[in-house]
Amino acid sequence: MLVVKNITKSLGGRTILHHINFCLRKGEVIALLGPNGAGKTTLMRCLSGFYTPDEGEVVLNGKNLEKQRFDVLQRLAYVPEAGGIYPDMTVYEYLSFMAELKHLDKQQFDENLSYLLKALDLREVINQRCETLSKGYKRRTALAGAMLSRPEVLILDEPTEGLDPQQKQHLRAFLKKYGREDIVLISTHIMEEVDAMADRVLLIKDGKLVCDTTPEDLKKITPDKDIESSFCTIVGR
Ligand code: ADP
Ligand code: MG
Repeated sequence: MLVVKNITKSLGGRTILHHINFCLRKGEVIALLGPNGAGKTTLMRCLSGFYTPDEGEVVLNGKNLEKQRFDVLQRLAYVPEAGGIYPDMTVYEYLSFMAELKHLDKQQFDENLSYLLKALDLREVINQRCETLSKGYKRRTALAGAMLSRPEVLILDEPTEGLDPQQKQHLRAFLKKYGREDIVLISTHIMEEVDAMADRVLLIKDGKLVCDTTPEDLKKITPDKDIESSFCTIVGR
């Protein structure tokens, strides 16, 4: 269980996140929604240890991210919106390097690698340099690197952004499956993705958590029972 307790974060002299509280359980895919600039990326950076919150704490299975950083980060993976991979390395070199950073032994690496190459459809590009990959392959390579340690918590910032429809569908199905046993938190602007994947929705506006509900209940907010209309009603557009 990932517990987010009263997180507040300021950047550049401005408070970006205000007292955010929620709790994520295993077996959930959670969609983090909010208009541009709401604070989704900042929140994900706080959850992944990239930022230290000014107030509050992040606790995974009773362990505090700040105090037991290594323990928590071994069980948690974050894939940012862009980048994260090294252009000069081949996919195999990149994944080997990530395995080294995560202290995986040879057997764990071989097992997890073959699972991920198949699940993320990366086998045909294994010896290709990262900079020559298409956007879809780049994103999946970054995801494979993050998932090598089989994290219990996967935090993905707009994971399907820029993918073609087929790649989106494939990735959603994969994450949905992963989320049956673990915690998958994704940020997205695509409402059909929420419908296709999410068990739960967190909506933030101006750095405040304004809604923590299921997609079904979110739809009930508007008469036409449509997630996009409900989203616009809540964010006031
Ligand atoms: P989202 O991902 O929801 O679009 P962000 O978390 O990226 O939102 O940004 C939230 C707000 O914080 C925005 O107003 C953005 O301009 C501001 N912000 C983000 N990073 C910084 C930073 N390093 N310094 C100052 N302000 C920042
Ligand atoms: Mg963002």
